[in-house]
Amino acid sequence: MTQHLPVANPVIPIDVIELPEFQQAGVQLELLRLDLVHPLVSGNKWFKLKYALQAFQASDCQLLLSFGGAWSNHIHALAYAGFEQGIETVGVIRGERPAKLSPTLVDAERWGMQLEFVTRAQYRDKTDAVFMSGLREKYGEFYALPEGGAGEWVIAGCREILSLFDAAAYDLICCACGTGGTLAGLIAGKPADVSLLGVSALKGGEFLYADIRGLLTAAQIDDPGGWSLALDCHEGGYAKVSSRLATVMQHFTEHSGIRLEPVYTGKALLALLQKMERGEFARGARVMLIHTGGMQGLRGMEAALLKKLS
Ligand SMILES: *Cc1c(COP(=O)(O)O)cnc(C)c1O
Repeated sequence: MTQHLPVANPVIPIDVIELPEFQQAGVQLELLRLDLVHPLVSGNKWFKLKYALQAFQASDCQLLLSFGGAWSNHIHALAYAGFEQGIETVGVIRGERPAKLSPTLVDAERWGMQLEFVTRAQYRDKTDAVFMSGLREKYGEFYALPEGGAGEWVIAGCREILSLFDAAAYDLICCACGTGGTLAGLIAGKPADVSLLGVSALKGGEFLYADIRGLLTAAQIDDPGGWSLALDCHEGGYAKVSSRLATVMQHFTEHSGIRLEPVYTGKALLALLQKMERGEFARGARVMLIHTGGMQGLRGMEAALLKKLS
């Protein structure tokens, strides 16, 4: 069944989260449910893809190609958006084709995405001219969308996240970072008195400072300041799960009835709880955590999470 993409930005629910740690400290925690934007083009990926798809439609290209891993939320969202909008898509996937595809890639193929598996070494050099011309020989002319949907349109799309709610009413707005594109968009649209916290999902997230500043510069936006990064909640690296992460996520779901996934939003929650423990919130503060979605990826993480809870 086709579930149409929203034409305008959808109305996004906000949940007040009653976690005892926050309640005792007199801090209001709320959750922006970007996971509910669309059942298949989830979370921030809708905002990241919005203008990329428009740019593609405005080009002469007939084919949209992008890159990602076997569990990529970006590949999943792109494959569905392509299916829904009648755009032919190719996914260049890191690693050899496995005997059994991940559910993410099964979905992508079902939605008509052609999958091109490349070795990890090749994937690292994926922007290499020889590699790209090989792809052009095979598939014909295409529009290449960088890994994670990064590009000039990300800031324009992601700053719109702040227009979905009364952003100026919050003291802190927090989201997880992969490439930092989403946070860069939030920085671009940030009300003056609001602080932003980006939480790196990757180990060695120091690169985010330069990448985010680079994105802002490319979009000709002066860095307004008032944002910071938590680089110590990656729990060992991308898609790694620790028992403190699994425990915090379970605690959150018990109190809210809302599920998170551990690759991104679980780590963002962890950073907020850590800030709370360190006494960094004033009584009366109002905090918005952005649930950036990506629940499809949880299908590959359930076993690891359970193991960390036992
Ligand atoms: C892709 C993704 C992110 C990271 O977004 P960036 O713009 O790359 O920083 C965060 N959360 C989820 C669920 C994602 O899928």
